[in-house]
Amino acid sequence: MTDYNQFLSKTVIDLPPSGIRRFFDVASKMENVISLGVGEPDFVTPWNIRDETIASIEDGYTSYTANPGLLELRQEISNYLNNRFKIEYNPENQIIVTIGASQALDLAFRALLNPGEEVLIIEPAFVSYPALVKLAGGKPVQVGTSAENGFKVTPEQIEAAITDRTKAILICSPNNPTGTFLNKADLEKIAHVAMKHNLVVITDEIYAELTYDEEYTSMASIPGMYERTITINGFSKAFAMTGWRLGYVAAPVPIVQAMLKIHQYTTMCAPHMLQHGAIEALRNGKEQVSEMKRSYRRRRNFIVTSLNDIGLDCHTPGGAFYVFPSIRNTGLTSEEFAEELLKKERVAVVPGNAFGKSGEGYIRCSYATSMEQLQEAIVRMERFLQSLNINKEQLALEK
Ligand code: PMP
Repeated sequence: MTDYNQFLSKTVIDLPPSGIRRFFDVASKMENVISLGVGEPDFVTPWNIRDETIASIEDGYTSYTANPGLLELRQEISNYLNNRFKIEYNPENQIIVTIGASQALDLAFRALLNPGEEVLIIEPAFVSYPALVKLAGGKPVQVGTSAENGFKVTPEQIEAAITDRTKAILICSPNNPTGTFLNKADLEKIAHVAMKHNLVVITDEIYAELTYDEEYTSMASIPGMYERTITINGFSKAFAMTGWRLGYVAAPVPIVQAMLKIHQYTTMCAPHMLQHGAIEALRNGKEQVSEMKRSYRRRRNFIVTSLNDIGLDCHTPGGAFYVFPSIRNTGLTSEEFAEELLKKERVAVVPGNAFGKSGEGYIRCSYATSMEQLQEAIVRMERFLQSLNINKEQLALEK
């Protein structure tokens, strides 16, 4: 038998498989499963965006584009960021169209990190972050948050994790998996620490359009932060375009130009015809985004109320399409809870520890699924809790 580990990179061998994938491989082989697991919109991309792309293919736009993407698209992105968040980026040299926000994150870490340099990751966090930092030769440093504080990080927690190797802080608001929204005051506190310790802030704003209660503030608009902020966003969540793999990054010129070097050697450019669809999304997609947002908001309100009603303590997330209820009072670990729930009641959720140590004791449920499915999932979850012989009063007492 050939030992293939001898051929493979040690960094890759040591990467754990995604906690989400592992779980859903099991769920996908079962029947009659209600999945609250997937992290993507349940809408199909709006027709006008698809139409523009079809027309672009018919018109023969099949070549490469400029490395950072079509200038016309970068101009639209620049207008959007300016109109929506009051941040100015020059479309000529401060924006790159990427293969999803995922590639933008990868470019950011690779452009910033020397071997062993550290990135602070506010947890619970999106599963890709630590892996991407490691692949870029850096060291992810987890900064755990807790439900008591609405999963918001405090300046003290950040400062306690800073060493002389810390290069950047990565934030994500609204957050995957907790849905936690950072308002202007929250961002100012993080900004203060970043400036004091001369750190870069990478801000993943992929869920910015899906915020339900408060006005969105972008980190780069906080005074003093523009020069040290890498703004990452994309089309996947707001426009229901996950399969298109289109995102973007905007940052100060020297940082973007460094990222562009990596992008041009590894990727060349994002697909030409899809970029025409993205232009249409930014020009004429506002109404559809608002409609989808209204629908998510209704579902959020339903699921938060229902989970609390059946005895699972759940804070109201300010954005994204996830809730992160506590399952601590059941006495099960997150993995045990998710596994048993899937086996007994065929509801798939993601164990909170997939998002880092501080996610233990919670589960992530995505409500980007139909209201009927959500209602049925709640019925099944309540039955599951009853089967554990813990009644609502006990759950409430232990809160
Ligand atoms: N960041 C977060 C927080 C996400 O949840 C996701 C998708 N699940 C991404 C980035 C990746 O987005 P994209 O599809 O644009 O690569």
